[in-house]
Amino acid sequence: MPEKHEIIIVGAGLSGLSAAHFLSKSMPEIDILILEQDSRPGGAVRSFNEQGYLAEWGPHGFLDNNPASRALLSETGLDRIAQKAPLNSFVRFVCHQGQLVQLPQSPPALLATSLLSPLGKLRLLGEFFKKPLAKEQNVGQWAAYRFGPEILPLVDAAITGTFAGDYNRLSIDAVMPGVRALEKEAGSVLKGLLRKKRKPGALLPAMTSFPLGMEQLITTLSTGANILYHSPVREISRKNQVWEISTETRTYRAASVILALPVNRSLELLATHAPPLSAIPTARIATVALGFTDKAQVPFGFGYLSPEREERFAMGALFSTNMFPGRAPAGRVLMEALVGGRRHPERLELSDEELLSRVYDDLRKLIPLPEPPCFSRVLRGNSSIPQLEIGYPALLTWKDALEQDLNGLHLCGFGWEGIGMNDMIQTSRIVADRILRRAGGKRQNPEVKPVYF
Ligand SMILES: Cc1cc2nc3c(=O)[nH]c(=O)nc-3n(C[C@H](O)[C@H](O)[C@H](O)COP(=O)(O)OP(=O)(O)OC[C@H]3O[C@@H](n4cnc5c(N)ncnc54)[C@H](O)[C@@H]3O)c2cc1C
Repeated sequence: MPEKHEIIIVGAGLSGLSAAHFLSKSMPEIDILILEQDSRPGGAVRSFNEQGYLAEWGPHGFLDNNPASRALLSETGLDRIAQKAPLNSFVRFVCHQGQLVQLPQSPPALLATSLLSPLGKLRLLGEFFKKPLAKEQNVGQWAAYRFGPEILPLVDAAITGTFAGDYNRLSIDAVMPGVRALEKEAGSVLKGLLRKKRKPGALLPAMTSFPLGMEQLITTLSTGANILYHSPVREISRKNQVWEISTETRTYRAASVILALPVNRSLELLATHAPPLSAIPTARIATVALGFTDKAQVPFGFGYLSPEREERFAMGALFSTNMFPGRAPAGRVLMEALVGGRRHPERLELSDEELLSRVYDDLRKLIPLPEPPCFSRVLRGNSSIPQLEIGYPALLTWKDALEQDLNGLHLCGFGWEGIGMNDMIQTSRIVADRILRRAGGKRQNPEVKPVYF
């Protein structure tokens, strides 16, 4: 006989665990089973801890400006131990003509930066007079049309830092739906932003992690959750108003099923429902963790990003020991360089030795590193970042219609409604609210997310 539960969640990554948390928080007696294919929870979130160095296979942090994430941290007590690196005090750099230049972190700072010529700055303001174009555009086309071509290296850096993606393929309507809505509503992004002016004195958000790395979030959320490991779900179907969820060896039944999976994994399970795309492209990256003595003159800040036109090997690097204390033994510093992405998957084919030496060569042309690394490790994660490219909005429309049609089916996870941790936690909370039939259970209007890259 199939085993019955009230709710089955497929996937014990951040999305599945967050959905389980929000559901159990409101209804402690609710019967939830999480089916996870792997032997560990966390999916893309995984921390590396060796010889006193703490690095990340996946995400390095998230901004503390999302209400759902803030609720998750306070409800689990993690807010009391969270480590924060505020954007107010930590600058970021972009590689520009072979040098690290500080990035402007606000629209007014853009007008003062040496990264744009006076003409480029004037063209930026020309955005006020550009009519919104209704058709779906890629991020590069859209940014060049609205703000002028000089902005493109900065847009490239932002897209590299978030999607490891290619701005000539990602859809602006998918990547920044809030900005697109603002543009259409106000007639220009700048006009819309001026109307929405930040409250005076409002602080910029802070990048957040934990003393044991991002995995501490997963360990906390998974403790006490009812997770069945080594349980890859192969099929889901609906019979007599009940969902049947099958692994290779067992079938489970539930009134509600949450697929908390990366988009492509969900599309495999929903293939019979004719999605407009059978899969979306993804991008993989490797983290190259390098420890140095404190003779390394790492600039104070989060790290740097490199636009493609700079033709560098690494997409950028995080100055990890600047951001979060305790990530290296005393007297040592840790940097984590990121390699690969949508444009350079071939670089991930290189051996660890080759990757280490190419990254070190690249970094020392930008940062004074008088000695070779005293610690090095290549971290190749299993997860890849979904690319919300042209055509993706149609997939999102299909998803919404499917959830309407199929009572009890809920979709969240990597690549649905965004790709960042805040997006995942927020969407999981919306799904939980919908199941509990609470007011928050509807998709909210897309927000204008400030770009802090
Ligand atoms: C390299 C990298 C760097 C990143 N950096 C950042 C960052 O700095 N900041 C940020 O905000 N975000 C970052 N992200 C994104 C962030 O990691 C994701 O938003 C988040 O982890 C996605 O969580 P998820 O649970 O939706 O998906 P996943 O983490 O993919 O979890 C899905 C889970 O489902 C399981 N699963 C898959 N198929 C099945 C099946 N058929 N049956 C059962 N189980 C299944 C998987 O094993 C996995 O455990 C990064 C991602 C990557 C890959």
